[in-house]
Amino acid sequence: MNRARKFDAPRIEKGELRLITTPDSFSNSPRENSAWKTEVILAGNWRGATCALLSKGRHHILVDTGMPHEAHRLMEALRERDLHPSDIRMIINTHFHVDHVLNNCLFPESEIYASQQSHDWCCAAYTDLLDEHNWEKLALKYYPEAGDSERTRERMGWLRRFALRWWDVKRLGDPSRFRWMETHPLPEDLELVLTSGHVPGHASVIIHDGNLPTIIAGDAVLTRAHDENILTMIPHNREQFQRDRERILSLPGRILPGHDEEFSNTDIL
Ligand SMILES: [Zn+2]
Repeated sequence: MNRARKFDAPRIEKGELRLITTPDSFSNSPRENSAWKTEVILAGNWRGATCALLSKGRHHILVDTGMPHEAHRLMEALRERDLHPSDIRMIINTHFHVDHVLNNCLFPESEIYASQQSHDWCCAAYTDLLDEHNWEKLALKYYPEAGDSERTRERMGWLRRFALRWWDVKRLGDPSRFRWMETHPLPEDLELVLTSGHVPGHASVIIHDGNLPTIIAGDAVLTRAHDENILTMIPHNREQFQRDRERILSLPGRILPGHDEEFSNTDIL
């Protein structure tokens, strides 16, 4: 089969990549013919996560929202597009690591789509990382492979310092705004795939906007070249992470990694 001629949704394979939702549901909005337009409005790099704006007519969605010190850049990017925070009616969080979610609170009128699994896992992990005396032992609950090497243990220390510096559950947005992906479908032409190697419940977003899709990988693909210097990159499950990454990179289209510039993955055609 020549899978690259035309984009097909990833096949469902047990324990790997799994479709969660696909159907249409922008509540009572008229069907619009235009395709989703995807813009990177905060470019991902080793210090910060990619934040993308999806637009279709009057509908605007943010995928991930960055960290508090990036709030002014985020707002500026919206202003440049004549958008007000109240124009953002939906946020999609790929997962709840601090570099992806801490400006959710700036969009109080937005519904927040994310997986409950990722939310619960990350909230519990950050809470335990803040435990002054037992954090190293507790961290193994979330990162069972962390005891494997000195380097990984060092990274756990970084993760704890990140938690101490930034974790603030209030910045995730009002809990009443959460719409769990497990039960709430996304608008038409947006598709979620579970890429759980990074954290359980991590989701990548596929936007069907033309012949080839746009793929917001989140941290399933940290960088194009698999740079290992991303501070928050410790995978929950290394093998699964590698499978998720390879699977996303096998898709033809425009790929937005979590911590790198976008690139076109058409060379596999
Ligand atoms: Zn992450």
